[in-house]
Amino acid sequence: MANIIDGKALSQKIKDDLKVKVDAFEQKYNRKITLAVILVGENPASQVYVKNKIKATEYVGMKSLAFYLPENSTQQEVEDAVRSLAADDAVDGILVQLPLPKHLNENAVLDIIPAEKDVDGFLAENVGKLTLGLPTTIACTPFGVTKMLESTGLNFSGKNAVVIGRSNIVGKPMALLLLQMNCTVTVCHSKTTNLKEICKQADVVVAAIGRPKFVTADMVKEGAVVIDVGINRTENGLVGDVDFDAVKDIASYITPVPGGVGPMTIAMLLENTYLCAERKINV
Ligand code: NDP
Repeated sequence: MANIIDGKALSQKIKDDLKVKVDAFEQKYNRKITLAVILVGENPASQVYVKNKIKATEYVGMKSLAFYLPENSTQQEVEDAVRSLAADDAVDGILVQLPLPKHLNENAVLDIIPAEKDVDGFLAENVGKLTLGLPTTIACTPFGVTKMLESTGLNFSGKNAVVIGRSNIVGKPMALLLLQMNCTVTVCHSKTTNLKEICKQADVVVAAIGRPKFVTADMVKEGAVVIDVGINRTENGLVGDVDFDAVKDIASYITPVPGGVGPMTIAMLLENTYLCAERKINV
């Protein structure tokens, strides 16, 4: 039976450490670190995510500014809201909850966020810096996965890592981070022909596909570390991209869903907000 990497406990520790740093920042600079969150429309999953993010922001002692714009907001209205936060010195981080309603141009909205307030690490400038190995804001989910890997105490240098999924927000930055950890990285996607064989060679598997129980026991090498990023809503509740019950008997470490990568993503959002506030002081 694999060791369970407990994302809930690890994220709690990160938040508690952050609480101390946030408090010290406030004492020293006499202001609260502030995260602004914009939610457009009434997507129920987004509403839950935003609520949890605000709760966590307040837990660590940061100030949250929440802006709820109606579903039928125009491109101009959403851009104006982001623009005013971009210009506001009191705001350290800006998060636009995605997806935006279909009639809005997401990229045009995100492009207004200054790179130094991009707490999601989605902007081209920050992704480019990550590619170059420069200090930057790292996308929260893959950043959280690196913390989970570090928490095992294992040395990943020279190990074979397979990332399944190549999205801009998870798969691609994840591959870059594993490369920084000196892994030999393979990225699989929907056009990969021999995915099972490739996956079976991996010492580390990161599944970010969006398909319930996609990674089955016969795809996993004995002793592999398996990280499940997937969140799939099924009639049996939340299910990851990994067949947890079967894979846990083969892997050496595994993350559960829920209680794995999900809580880490929120913790790293707060960490990113703190880092943005710190960098602002240091420029
Ligand atoms: P995307 O839909 O953007 O990307 C999915 C990736 O999986 C694509 O690269 C796609 O390949 C690949 N893929 C899809 N089907 C297959 C297949 N049959 N075989 C191999 N590869 C396949 O998803 P995200 O990266 O945004 O999210 C992935 C999952 O992680 C989702 O379940 C999402 O809910 C979850 N998630 C969880 C977070 C958390 O905090 N825990 C945060 C963000 C996401 P191709 O590029 O060829 O289409």
